Amino acid sequence: MSKSNIEYLEKTYIECSLCPRNCHADRIENKTNFCRIDNQFHIASITIHTGEEPVLSGEKGVCNVFFTHCNLQCIYCQNFQISKNRISDNTHTLSLDNVVKKITDILDTGITHLGFVSPSHQIVQMVQIIEALHSKNYFPTIIYNTNAYDKVSTLKMIEPLVDIYLPDFKYADNDLAEKYSQAPQYKQIALNAIGEMIRQKGKSLAIDENGLATQGVIIRHLILPNHIDNSLAVLEKIQDNFGNKISLSVMSQYFPPEPVSNHPQLGRRITETEYQQVLSKIDELGFENGFIQEPESAENYQPDFEKENPFE
Ligand code: SF4
Repeated sequence: MSKSNIEYLEKTYIECSLCPRNCHADRIENKTNFCRIDNQFHIASITIHTGEEPVLSGEKGVCNVFFTHCNLQCIYCQNFQISKNRISDNTHTLSLDNVVKKITDILDTGITHLGFVSPSHQIVQMVQIIEALHSKNYFPTIIYNTNAYDKVSTLKMIEPLVDIYLPDFKYADNDLAEKYSQAPQYKQIALNAIGEMIRQKGKSLAIDENGLATQGVIIRHLILPNHIDNSLAVLEKIQDNFGNKISLSVMSQYFPPEPVSNHPQLGRRITETEYQQVLSKIDELGFENGFIQEPESAENYQPDFEKENPFE
């Protein structure tokens, strides 16, 4: 990445417009921005995760960096223990050296893929981590695992550093996005962001001799209970905008986390009927490249960030 791009990104701390919220906040002085994140490395966990798509996890798993806070605030967030935008404190703050040490210890076991989970509001930190790894001669395959509420201009800055984009296209319904995630104009923002990701990496996944993806875009979608119309509309939007050759990953493992355990609509898992409706739509639209997680796999995806390894 060019020095001017890094300098530009660092300047965004003073008047932040990294993500579509365009807070223009001074993140170092007052932390009154939406994400309430300053310039430190706020990371809840750096761990091996075997539950991603097989082309990302392989046999050994992927090294995932779980950032705290988020530029969305989904009331049903599966990572709710770490994603809430509290005033940033030192609870999950690591030094860059510490972050790099934890990552390189994992990469030294032979893991080749490094995923950044919810990086949109800590993109400068992500860039600093990748640059530090490069300076130590570590060049893992970089996965940008995002809610898709990203700005095209920011994505252009990280084009040389990211190999695989993994956007979760959550809503084709802006009212739902506002209601559940405080995300105005989500649909168009996410479609623009995913369009930029595809422009950068293409529609086909490049796969190496070990069956692992090395470049491309996989569009995810988490099915929510009682909101199958949204899921069907999401699939239609993907097909309308990007065709049916794009890689799709439909996630049916939703479980109601504690904050919505009694919610009238979100307080249960999806039903078999809901699951089948989504599968039928995937068939109808002619998607061929993709991954579908079974609803029964929900237990395997419930992280507990109080533990050293949240997925054990
Ligand atoms: S990254 Fe945070 S401070 Fe910057 S625009 Fe987005 S929400 Fe606001």
